[in-house]
Amino acid sequence: MTDPDPSKKVADRYLKREILGEGTYGVVYKAIDTHTGQTVAIKKIRLGKQKEGVNFTALREIKLLKELKDPNIIELIDAFPHKGNLHLVFEFMETDLEAVIRDRNIFLSPADTKSYLQMTLKGLAFCHKKWVLHRDMKPNNLLIGSHGQLKLADFGLARIFGSPDRRFTHQVFARWYRAPELLFGAKQYGSGVDVWAAACIFAELLLRRPFLQGSSDIDQLGKIFAAFGTPTPAQWPDMVYLPDYVEYQNVPAPPLRTLFPTASDDALDLLSKMFTYDPKARISVQQALEHRYFSSAPLPTDPEKLPRPAPKKESRTSDFDLQQGPTVLSPPRKSRRVMPGRDGFEGNSFQGVKDDDGNFGDFRQTVGDNTGKNQPVPMSVDFSIFGLKSPNRPTINSADRSHLKRKLDLEFQQPE
Ligand code: AMP
Repeated sequence: MTDPDPSKKVADRYLKREILGEGTYGVVYKAIDTHTGQTVAIKKIRLGKQKEGVNFTALREIKLLKELKDPNIIELIDAFPHKGNLHLVFEFMETDLEAVIRDRNIFLSPADTKSYLQMTLKGLAFCHKKWVLHRDMKPNNLLIGSHGQLKLADFGLARIFGSPDRRFTHQVFARWYRAPELLFGAKQYGSGVDVWAAACIFAELLLRRPFLQGSSDIDQLGKIFAAFGTPTPAQWPDMVYLPDYVEYQNVPAPPLRTLFPTASDDALDLLSKMFTYDPKARISVQQALEHRYFSSAPLPTDPEKLPRPAPKKESRTSDFDLQQGPTVLSPPRKSRRVMPGRDGFEGNSFQGVKDDDGNFGDFRQTVGDNTGKNQPVPMSVDFSIFGLKSPNRPTINSADRSHLKRKLDLEFQQPE
């Protein structure tokens, strides 16, 4: 990967600025659209071996994404191939929900949580109406603009591009947000997977830490069952027919109230409907939006008034002169989202450190894929100081989609 040269124009139009981060499909950098003066984020998608795969079908899908216009969906402004890579140009967003949840200076009131959840569901509802699934819902894919508006990012990309090569698969399909049907290997699934993930995000907003932090697929299911009780065939009749179904020990569900002591009754009711095991019985996004949680007091906070992380010094877009080009280079936006985690966090706040890729480790346990490569790390290490990466936030890769039984075998074989 080469660093962007800020003086270079891409496709005769976009002036490259700093790298914003490395995402699921490749590097993302800030740029100025010299036609409009607008700041944009360009996602450079490595086509690699999939070069032949990004064919007319993919381009048609991208065209569809360009037409998905909604206030709660990030706008895909442009898409073009350049030097063998596909470039997707999005509106630039200041921060994301993960940064909000992690920021210990931010107090999220019940009305704030309601507002963030409502915007998330509104964006999802629009896409589900257009038959597009997200499949990678997680707080750092919920971007937040300068007026507090939350927008879903990376919509449909998982479906178009699938899993990138294995080196990057740790960033695909966050395990902690995966629905139980996916963890049991369902090949056919629907919008319910996004509802489950949205429920995990709702829970994370309430707790200020990821709710179900499984260290493997099996552990993830174990965590889900510990929270909601092992599902019975009566509760979820299709479960036993799923490809990777394995029987788990029966554990009863603790009262939901004990897991979310500060949540209102309405919040708990909606949460339980979104966390329904049987995807056929799970509430839809539209029904969730119509739930009384959103109409009862307190009403959702106006996005403009929502608490957000204090803005760091950015490259000032107003400095941009269409004749002269950009003058200020700011440090990568990513750096502001590294949470040192030096002090212990109190109460329900976050206890991890985020790395350059937008992942963070849970230092109370060994996290990662099933290779056993990730080692437990002491809580107070600030990786950014040493230019090291913290253990990755565990995510699901394409291999995870194969049989859980095979994965169990792999664990015993201790690969590499
Ligand atoms: P992604 O490929 O979506 O995971 O993006 C990688 C990183 O690039 C994210 O963690 C964001 O920090 C940043 N990023 C992606 N899209 C945008 C955007 N539209 N505006 C600003 N930053 C973005």
